[in-house]
Amino acid sequence: MTTLIWIAIFLATFCFMEFMAWATHKYVMHGFLWSLHEDHHHKDHDSWFERNDAFFIFYAVVSITCFLLWKYDIFWAGLPIGIGIFAYGLAYFIVHDIFIHQRFKLLRKADNWYAKGIRRAHKIHHKHLGKGNGECFGMLWVPMKYFKRN
Ligand SMILES: [Zn+2]
Ligand SMILES: [Zn+2]
Ligand SMILES: [Zn+2]
Repeated sequence: MTTLIWIAIFLATFCFMEFMAWATHKYVMHGFLWSLHEDHHHKDHDSWFERNDAFFIFYAVVSITCFLLWKYDIFWAGLPIGIGIFAYGLAYFIVHDIFIHQRFKLLRKADNWYAKGIRRAHKIHHKHLGKGNGECFGMLWVPMKYFKRN
């Protein structure tokens, strides 16, 4: 029973993180912290790292904090929540940074309907170079229309 609750919390956290990623992207990254996200839309330097990577660090700190709350017996659900945030961050990195933006030359040939759909949606996001009027802020879950046709 506890295992089931543990798995349920893990899955709920993972799904909730898609919502968090969407909301952070729409209201924070394209909002008051645009200065950190801007170099992801038009790179103004030669470094492999982007100021935008600060958002990964932020969620890594949140994840580690949850893990520590569990480790020191402060909050038992800290473990599934912390691992859920970590798993989402990993999925986001693999899909967004590796598959879509090719920061590592991997997964280039992925061309199933799901991979094509999320890539198409994110390319639409990148059509906008500025802070305002953006669209497609989600990552793993995008509007159905992007999965249709080729
Ligand atoms: Zn953006
Ligand atoms: Zn991007
Ligand atoms: Zn944008």
